[in-house]
Amino acid sequence: MSEFQELNGVLHVEDISLEAIADRYQTPCYVYSKQAVVNHWQAFADALPQPHRAFYAVKANSNLAVLQVLAEQGAGFDVVSGGEIARVLRAGGQATDIVFSGVAKSEAEIRYALEVGIGQFNVESAAELQRISAIAAQMQCVARISLRVNPDVDAKTHPYIATGLEDNKFGIPMAEAVATYQQATVLPNLEIVGADCHIGSQLTETQPFLDALERMLALVDELASLDIHIRHIDMGGGLGVTYQNEQPPAVAEYIQALLQRLQAYPHIALFLEPGRAIVANAGVLLTRVEYLKSNGFKHFVMVDAGMNDLLRPSLYQAHHEIVNVRPGTAPTVTGDIVGPVCETGDFLGQQREIAAQAGDLLAVKSAGAYGFVMSSNYNSRPRPPEVLVSGSDSYLVRARETMDDVWRGETLVPKG
Ligand SMILES: *Cc1c(COP(=O)(O)O)cnc(C)c1O
Repeated sequence: MSEFQELNGVLHVEDISLEAIADRYQTPCYVYSKQAVVNHWQAFADALPQPHRAFYAVKANSNLAVLQVLAEQGAGFDVVSGGEIARVLRAGGQATDIVFSGVAKSEAEIRYALEVGIGQFNVESAAELQRISAIAAQMQCVARISLRVNPDVDAKTHPYIATGLEDNKFGIPMAEAVATYQQATVLPNLEIVGADCHIGSQLTETQPFLDALERMLALVDELASLDIHIRHIDMGGGLGVTYQNEQPPAVAEYIQALLQRLQAYPHIALFLEPGRAIVANAGVLLTRVEYLKSNGFKHFVMVDAGMNDLLRPSLYQAHHEIVNVRPGTAPTVTGDIVGPVCETGDFLGQQREIAAQAGDLLAVKSAGAYGFVMSSNYNSRPRPPEVLVSGSDSYLVRARETMDDVWRGETLVPKG
């Protein structure tokens, strides 16, 4: 059941109407359901008994309160920067529950990760392997590593979010994987623990994951014959969600398919790194209609949230359902739902049919993943607040920015 339901003619999040949220926190405003985050997480946790494990991909939504909720559920965390490590620790997560992915880890990030004692690195190149080894040797500690290999499977998703094809920047080419593992065995202060891949995002079929797993298992077999023993295979994130009418497999079904193939490998644990599947449908962006406008050819619904608040429609032509929080009162218009930013690409939805008039409150759905985290201050727009709802309680988990926040760190120069 969704935590976003209509009740008495008004869309609610858990037990609070979105109108009450907008009255209290103003618009635009991100609103998350704690119960939805917990439920989506539980689906993964339930389907992955020990020693299997899920690591929440922090980049999807890194708000401290969201991370805290997941840490309380016993989540592991997949991070892609030193900043994300700091967030996990600040939110109460354990360093040992962190896996560190990312194509261009800096020396400072690697040092920090080793200092706090993260679980492991997902290493994306031979050069990075050497850098980690050298820093670990200096620090007289051991870095646990997995190599992220590129299985070269087509995830059949948007080109900007496909990561497992041989022509993109992520991972070590499969053809070089064995040689790179062999290098890892001779470099000092490294412990090989796993093999990792991540083929893309918003996948709506299980088959590409199974194809990738097949290639990972062939690699694991070859490594075993060379006396290099892998303890887990990390299949990354990427399970899709329903934005419009996509029908991704259920979490349990997708995990069962992977675990079934792994039955022949009882000594290998399955790791997953879900991001979008946990938070996308746990959040909405609330926005108010400022004006209706028509240029003779086309109608526009102009709202107070723009591409600086939610970039996905502009960046990937992503579709988000947009609904009136109090449906059925205004006349219907068909047009683009656009923001105040001075860019033609600033839209939240195109050619939508919506009953809305000036002053109405709209909810942009499925905005919990890759929403606030991609926001910016473009056009000197303070970023919106984030609110976490639990039952009939709401918590301001990030305040709306002020102009002092927007120009923090900037200075004027001497006159003349
Ligand atoms: C982005 C990313 C994820 C999460 O992807 P989702 O599609 O949000 O599940 C997991 N692992 C890695 C390495 C990533 O880069």
